[in-house]
Amino acid sequence: MDYVIASTYNNYIEAHLAMGNLQSESINCWLKDENTVTIDPILTNAVGGIKLMVAQPQIGRALDILKNTKKEYQQQHPCPHCGSTNVEYVSTPKKASNWLGTLINLLLGIGAPLPVDKVHHCFDCGYEYEAQ
Ligand SMILES: [Zn+2]
Repeated sequence: MDYVIASTYNNYIEAHLAMGNLQSESINCWLKDENTVTIDPILTNAVGGIKLMVAQPQIGRALDILKNTKKEYQQQHPCPHCGSTNVEYVSTPKKASNWLGTLINLLLGIGAPLPVDKVHHCFDCGYEYEAQ
């Protein structure tokens, strides 16, 4: 059977939550590059994150489920500034977390990549706020 990438994740917990959601709907799926990311988080960006692979015939339904899950999440976490649900849980700063930045860090001996904060970002007013 052919598998296609439904989504990618930078952390183990999000990837497993998504996979659990799909599996509870009888979607045939698995995580690719999970071990690489878990054993060595520095490599996460180099391999492009953990990939959620879904059986090709089920990809349409899988994407619908992921979209609905996201919508539910957004409705539960509206922007406290303007009330919009057009929000996303993002890593910041994004620019410092690309693989080239990580590589330069390593080469220069600075050590671990910069810690990445996870915040909610509102796309309507630009407000950023801590996860509850
Ligand atoms: Zn807002």
